[in-house]
Amino acid sequence: MRNKPDEFYEEQDVQDTKPNKGKKFGVGMLILGIVGAILFIAGIALFVIAGTGSMAGPLVGMLLFGVGAVLMGIGFSPLVTKVGAKINKGTMEYASEDLKNMSKTAINLNKDIQEENKDSLSQMASTMAEINQTAVTTTARAVKKGLKDTKFCKECGAQIDADSKFCNNCGTKQ
Ligand SMILES: [Zn+2]
Repeated sequence: MRNKPDEFYEEQDVQDTKPNKGKKFGVGMLILGIVGAILFIAGIALFVIAGTGSMAGPLVGMLLFGVGAVLMGIGFSPLVTKVGAKINKGTMEYASEDLKNMSKTAINLNKDIQEENKDSLSQMASTMAEINQTAVTTTARAVKKGLKDTKFCKECGAQIDADSKFCNNCGTKQ
């Protein structure tokens, strides 16, 4: 039962490691991220501590904060991607069972409903077909009537078909 999804994820894992970005720059990126984090925290600290003191303190603090944030973003991005992929994989594995059961239940339910309501469903279908037929016929008639040339009765002025010999309102010969 669980064979198929596991195989699927294993295949994905192989594909995930192919670019090897994480391995190649792994340690360097991690150091960069950590340095970034230190600068980030130092920046905040400097900003807070020097906030009320000089003008340069908060400025340098903000600069450190910004540079630290960027470095952290670059340095930790492979890690974040990796962890994110792992979390995603776990969630999907966890959810796939639920989804499978859910769809199975839904299919069974659907089957049951169809089985139980076979007669009324077929009746409904034929009723729908009849309604459709009526609608189509009515529409066709209306379109035909709309396309037909008309004239007005000599006697009463009612709108009648151009080719009718007698008025269908007053019966006067045209
Ligand atoms: Zn008439």
